[in-house]
Amino acid sequence: MSDAAGIEIEDLRKSYDGTLALDVDRLAVEPRATLALIGPSGCGKSTLLRLIVGLLAPDRGRVTVAGTRMEPTTRRRLQLRMGYVIQEGGLFPHLTAGDNIALVAQDTGWERGKIAARVEELLELTQIPRALLSRYPTQLSGGQRQRVALMRALMMDPDVLLLDEPLTALDPMIRSDLQRELRRVFERLRKTVLFVTHDIAEAAYIAGELAIMRAGKVLQRGSLRDLIRNPADPFVTEFIRAQRLLDVADLAAN
Ligand code: ADP
Ligand code: MG
Repeated sequence: MSDAAGIEIEDLRKSYDGTLALDVDRLAVEPRATLALIGPSGCGKSTLLRLIVGLLAPDRGRVTVAGTRMEPTTRRRLQLRMGYVIQEGGLFPHLTAGDNIALVAQDTGWERGKIAARVEELLELTQIPRALLSRYPTQLSGGQRQRVALMRALMMDPDVLLLDEPLTALDPMIRSDLQRELRRVFERLRKTVLFVTHDIAEAAYIAGELAIMRAGKVLQRGSLRDLIRNPADPFVTEFIRAQRLLDVADLAAN
């Protein structure tokens, strides 16, 4: 396994057409920790992930991954250490699932045998039936697409996983199966994980620690219990209440 790698954000800002979308003073994810990033639609979650993975350049500030600052000269090397999954999977429609998974490894010059061996490991880990590998993304269900997208993100054995609402588009039963699987995969692999969701129950199930965002800023970070008991801002309480968690009363009492 490669070296553990954390993520550090310092003084990071990003505007679109003069409108500030992200303004984070500091946010760090320790190596091998899982942090869930929650907040309402439009609060800047995807922007933050795109900045970390180097798909966007910040107006100011820095992103450091595995001790190396993200810049044009380090971008490609750092991207190979990060796996990224988005809501709809982001699979290339003209490639089969298997080719989607192997694409970067082929580009990087891996031998066929090494690719095949890695695919075997991942099939076992993600419990994907081998027959799905020859299908195109449109021939897969939403849940299958997200499993394939996860497999693709894990192919290069990245230190860091960035997941941008990977389960949001799925129906509740499939979603709950995949929540369980993701948690199992994270526990087993012990990678550095930043998991974006707007669902607070999902966040608390997947990660021990949550960071809640609003209007481009991180308002508070802590366990769900911390956010419930000691909200740093009235919005934290509003956001949690709005989700009508059945066990909020219990959590607050114990
Ligand atoms: P979230 O993922 O939390 O829903 P985003 O990071 O996608 O939020 O968006 C943050 C803000 O930036 C929103 O107001 C959104 O409309 C705006 N935004 C995002 N991407 C773009 C873009 N490419 N051009 C202009 N505005 C954008
Ligand atoms: Mg988003």
